[in-house]
Amino acid sequence: MSDVNAVPEIDELIAQSLRIGADPRLVQGAGGNLSLKHDGVMWIKASGTRLGEAADRPIFVPMGIETTRAAVLETEDLVPYVLTELAAPGLRPSIETALHVLLPHRVVFHAHATGAIAAGLTAQSAARIRDLPGADVAVVPYAKPGIELARAVFAELGDDVDPERPLVLLLRNHGVVVGAADGEAAGALLDSVERFLRTETAPEAAATAPAPGAPVPAGDPVLLHPAGTVGPRAAEVLTGGAFTPDAAVFLGPQPFGREGAWDESPCVVGADGSVRARGGLGADEVEIAISLVDVARQVGGDEPTSSLTERDVHALLNWEAEKWRQNLKR
Ligand SMILES: [Zn+2]
Repeated sequence: MSDVNAVPEIDELIAQSLRIGADPRLVQGAGGNLSLKHDGVMWIKASGTRLGEAADRPIFVPMGIETTRAAVLETEDLVPYVLTELAAPGLRPSIETALHVLLPHRVVFHAHATGAIAAGLTAQSAARIRDLPGADVAVVPYAKPGIELARAVFAELGDDVDPERPLVLLLRNHGVVVGAADGEAAGALLDSVERFLRTETAPEAAATAPAPGAPVPAGDPVLLHPAGTVGPRAAEVLTGGAFTPDAAVFLGPQPFGREGAWDESPCVVGADGSVRARGGLGADEVEIAISLVDVARQVGGDEPTSSLTERDVHALLNWEAEKWRQNLKR
């Protein structure tokens, strides 16, 4: 076993972290995670750290692969499986460690990519991923992140997953996972999934929208997106309740309301298709809200979209692992 600097390809993993972390259409806030397995150790992004920080401080936690694999479907307390002799202090493994360690691929990337989330909101559009060339593909129904998501993934995949074949998992109401032989291939696969699924460009920011990484100043609501950004279908999707875990955890059960619904929702969609955010909304919340607008604009057809149930939202908001992540937000 060797420390992180001696791991071949760690530079590639850091480069991919920076690239993905800089693209708000791929990850928002502390979302998304990357892992690399080498020499019996899995290096996985720590919970609450940002991919964009990868050049500035350690964000990868070393876990013993065999011990972690044996434990992940039994417990969500994975701190005992961190290889402390190799680890930077104070890092706690990602909520999605179970999925990363159980997949046999050397490199696994998970992103909250807007094209994949949009496709996953209806069964019809989710099925489009099956036509993606060059990878094994599975569509996974929504499950709470962590153990339940890992179980849902393997219920779709079965036990016989070939680590030599690139893999794409479309996680409905959540995002995408890719597995590949190395970091470069995983990055290229993630990009190809998004190129394949995206149906719209990113929404235009209003002049009054906070700069990337900045919160909404306290006071009156501000315009995030100008009139005409959100059409009737996207408005219906946005105001239909939280449709991803991040939406629920950061923006509550009803992230977007119609004009005047400030009591219930931190963001509102105007009758003219504009989007406003409440004064004082945090930087991560703003980034997630903008990504949800991006997602909603990419939902086509007229099939009803899937949102999280009240029970799903309750389970997320009362989950200790998410409370930890909330404490680390900007
Ligand atoms: Zn996720």
